[in-house]
Amino acid sequence: MHQHDASTEVLTQAIVDYAVDRVSMEPPLDGPRTPDELAAEAGRTITEEGLGGLEALRVFGEVLAPACISVDHPRFLSFVPAAPTEASILFDLVVGASSIYAGSWMEGGGAVFAENEALRYIADLAGMSQAAGGVFVSGGTAGNLSALIAARHRWRTRAGGRLDRTRGLIISSKGAHSSIAAACRAMDADEVSVTSDEEGRLHVENLRDALAALSAEDRDRVFAVVATCGTTNAGVIDDLDAAADAAVELGVWFHVDGAYGGAGLAAPSVRARYHGIERCDSFIVDPHKWLFAPFDCCALVYADPLAARAAHRQHAEYLDVLHADDEHDEQWNPSDFAHHLSRRARGLPFWFSLATYGTAAYRDAVEQTLTVTRAAAQLVREAAQLELIMEPELSVVLFRRVGWTPAQYQAWSDRLLAEGTAFVVPTAWAGETVLRICVVNPRTTVDDIRLILDSLA
Ligand SMILES: *Cc1c(COP(=O)(O)O)cnc(C)c1O
Repeated sequence: MHQHDASTEVLTQAIVDYAVDRVSMEPPLDGPRTPDELAAEAGRTITEEGLGGLEALRVFGEVLAPACISVDHPRFLSFVPAAPTEASILFDLVVGASSIYAGSWMEGGGAVFAENEALRYIADLAGMSQAAGGVFVSGGTAGNLSALIAARHRWRTRAGGRLDRTRGLIISSKGAHSSIAAACRAMDADEVSVTSDEEGRLHVENLRDALAALSAEDRDRVFAVVATCGTTNAGVIDDLDAAADAAVELGVWFHVDGAYGGAGLAAPSVRARYHGIERCDSFIVDPHKWLFAPFDCCALVYADPLAARAAHRQHAEYLDVLHADDEHDEQWNPSDFAHHLSRRARGLPFWFSLATYGTAAYRDAVEQTLTVTRAAAQLVREAAQLELIMEPELSVVLFRRVGWTPAQYQAWSDRLLAEGTAFVVPTAWAGETVLRICVVNPRTTVDDIRLILDSLA
């Protein structure tokens, strides 16, 4: 270890070959195995003597990797898939090799500069001001939590001590992602979940009713209004302008969760649906979902980064060399903008890909997935045994196979995965088991969709 010798050269070649193969091939879909199966095939991998790199790589390639479903397979259409670009994946290797600490400008300035360029692209998509900025965190869950911690901090600070012992409250909606409830649990805050329309969208009337129903005491406890642009289950966008109005009326923070759907901002055909997003105090989008970056990567952008820094900056004797003076600190330290300290420069693969291909390629790739989604909805409409539950607003199609029980849906889904055909799991909609596909991969074709729908005959 820690010696560069002939065996390192051999391992380098083997690892680069493996990575290049994986990037260039159509990935196998693969599927889950039990711990017992893996133990039997992989054997003990951590030993006193070590297996050697080539043997450990063999175990990974032959046993462990096939026990992971390839999220970038063009017929992986469950949950929210991923489709990292060639440039982003390859550059992830460079980030790993570069040993960059990207928590502070002092140590990681060059990387932080590039990450900030990529954050600027996101802020521009959302129409946020030149003052906007933030940080890349691990995922939407971490992004939502960090934004809401900043929101609560501002609410308490403005109250001048009056609310320091008061439990906070968030206004969200039924379509909000489970991570908002998780953030409330972590923060010991309450959540008022506003009813949404039959497609799961937050509407101005629902919001008005919810605000009117708040007691004076609860109104005082509200520190944020959270809206979703691209609900995870249905891919619909809340009335963002109405949510922004509600936040203004209450005098609180407006957070927009676009972990999945924020990428649609890049697509002219749906951009108008995000009206009001530019009024947010914070916004998240996961490039690892629909902006073609590898895991794990969430862009968290604040309208007023100093408000976030006030909430998140850690102080200690060993850290204050990084920022001796809070008042006149000109340096951009990514640690200051989320609930974290040490961090990988996880925005760099996304930045490198943007720099390589240009933003027009991103626009076209997102549009391409929307085109395939619309074609998929059309195929569902045309199939006698299928029913479209709603017109897709972004790249999620919800539909039912007429007459099927939950067990039939599950058996079909299991069979498709076992055959290596596709990965499509059932979801629930209004209490009914239904099917859902989510298209974020520009390599997914209409023929891929047809193959899946035909198997539902
Ligand atoms: C996926 C998702 C999240 C959580 O993101 P992770 O990166 O999985 O933590 C949050 N909000 C929405 C709307 C999502 O779709």
